[in-house]
Amino acid sequence: MGFIVAVDGPAGSGKGTITKIVSERMNLVSIDTGAMYRCVALDCLNNEIDSTDLDGIENILNNIKIELKNEDGKQKVLLNGKDVSEEIRTAKVDNAVAKYAAVKIIRDKVTPMQRKMGETQNIIMEGRDIGTVVFPNADVKIFLDCSVEERARRRYKQNLEKGINETFEEVLSNIKERHRLETEREVAPFVKAEDAIYIDSSNMTIEEVSDKIIEIIKQKMNKR
Ligand code: C5P
Repeated sequence: MGFIVAVDGPAGSGKGTITKIVSERMNLVSIDTGAMYRCVALDCLNNEIDSTDLDGIENILNNIKIELKNEDGKQKVLLNGKDVSEEIRTAKVDNAVAKYAAVKIIRDKVTPMQRKMGETQNIIMEGRDIGTVVFPNADVKIFLDCSVEERARRRYKQNLEKGINETFEEVLSNIKERHRLETEREVAPFVKAEDAIYIDSSNMTIEEVSDKIIEIIKQKMNKR
């Protein structure tokens, strides 16, 4: 098993950006598990398979190939050989992904893929259930929280930069609805692992949060 850092947090908590910074500074392979659920959702949407159609989903899962690549410091996501890095971030996927991520057979397929990635390399993996389900024995567990308004504000700003046209109210409502689905689902609900270190990033800069996490990782690495 490699050295495993688990970072769980809600949408817009900054975990993507922070994970990337920490991975570069600590020489860890960064893995965005949300991208994997986004790929499954996109594949289902493209094939008009509803989140309640378990036979249809089974068929998708039997044929799906998801690849996460790091090229020149940029993450590339390939779904069945096609670069979908941009497409998985569209509002269409944003609005549907949490429904698919609540389906047990989807999680049963994706979770072992994630565990495999930690077998041979040192990783920092971000998601919702990494410290609770995927790697309950991770070396470091971080729970990165943030107020819902601040999360919506950040996501809205990111969207503007990407040219995505959604009002602040739409972004806020999407974030709230996704949070409800993620925390209330039966399989792998989004909760803080008991032994995770809680960080509230609402009033912290990206640098402050990254420095804090790096400090925690260094301490743990020295003890190992
Ligand atoms: O992190 P991101 O917002 O890209 O994740 C997309 C969706 O994937 C989340 O809304 C959540 O429903 C799901 N997800 C999950 N478990 C993870 C990572 C993401 O259920 N470990």
